[in-house]
Amino acid sequence: METPVNTNVKLHKLPETDSQSCWKAEMAESFTRVEDLLDYLELPTDSLANYYEPARRFPFRVTRAYASRMKKGELNDPLLLQALPTIDELFDRLGYTADPVGDLQAIALPGLLHKYHGRVLLIVTGACAINCRYCFRREFPYSDGQLTHSRQAEALAYIAQDDSIAEVILSGGDPLMLDDNRLALLYDGIADIPHVRRVRIHTRLPVVLPSRITSGLVKAVTSTRLNTVVTIHANHANELDAEVGLALQRLRNVGLTLLNQSVLLKGVNDTVEALTTLSEILFEQGVLPYYLHLLDKANGTGHFDVNNPAASALHDDLQRLLPGYLVPRLVRETAGAPYKLNILKEKYLP
Ligand SMILES: *Cc1c(COP(=O)(O)O)cnc(C)c1O
Ligand code: SF4
Repeated sequence: METPVNTNVKLHKLPETDSQSCWKAEMAESFTRVEDLLDYLELPTDSLANYYEPARRFPFRVTRAYASRMKKGELNDPLLLQALPTIDELFDRLGYTADPVGDLQAIALPGLLHKYHGRVLLIVTGACAINCRYCFRREFPYSDGQLTHSRQAEALAYIAQDDSIAEVILSGGDPLMLDDNRLALLYDGIADIPHVRRVRIHTRLPVVLPSRITSGLVKAVTSTRLNTVVTIHANHANELDAEVGLALQRLRNVGLTLLNQSVLLKGVNDTVEALTTLSEILFEQGVLPYYLHLLDKANGTGHFDVNNPAASALHDDLQRLLPGYLVPRLVRETAGAPYKLNILKEKYLP
């Protein structure tokens, strides 16, 4: 039987590398203790006590692949800042909550969020390969709220009875933490619903664990009538090294659409230089910038916030300097709103 492939775009021939499970072995070698990462980066470990409490509330985790792109000896490295717990996380701030974007009110079934017309979002796992300190789902109740295999049939039945749903978004956590068999089963179930046209995968793994993009994964997402959009998550050009480029190329070679979403983060990417370089490098790696999110005000993330006027000014600069297709949409996710709000339309500001 012939395997249906979405398009027949072929860029370059890539070597067949992967053994199917090497990404799991790599995951197992991740940094899970701050002191080990600091040692590796040749940074002092004398103020370690500062990390314990924040890392107890939201565990510390960084892959070796991601850490290898951090600059040694540089405490303000933009990649390190995204991953390193800090006592700033312990300060309560006005307006910061456990559920800043209204995920809980959008739950239609355990593991299924139905917030916007035509799209549902499945929380297929709570696991990630890296724990980003600014994560808006830091306190999401994954144990009750994820789509376990046993809940899958119920979610699919929900989608099947609403023919306005054309797109299923796989999210989490990171959906590519599922193994290829589970993904393939999920795809099969979704493909059986005639009105669903697309699957979108929201994943940081091509960036933080590029070895995850195995031929088995590529097969799982192409052996289907469904179109797949992969939305990666990179905030800084330094995250996109050659290895990431190759992983992305594997996805492009089979005709998948690749988009990126970033979060605007103080000290990480809140300069025109950082954001224009990010767009340029994304494009070179076959990815279009999609969203630049204003920080979702999750407890413990306030030190990353960039205020609206500063964000708008940066976005103006991007529009001035870049072609339109390399300018991400500057948005804020707002509980109860019918779409992600463009903050430049001030009349919609909460
Ligand atoms: C962001 C999001 C989507 C997708 O929104 P787009 O604007 O289509 O990218 C869908 N469902 C939920 C719950 C979301 O948070
Ligand atoms: S990869 Fe996404 S879901 Fe996971 S910790 Fe980072 S921001 Fe949160």
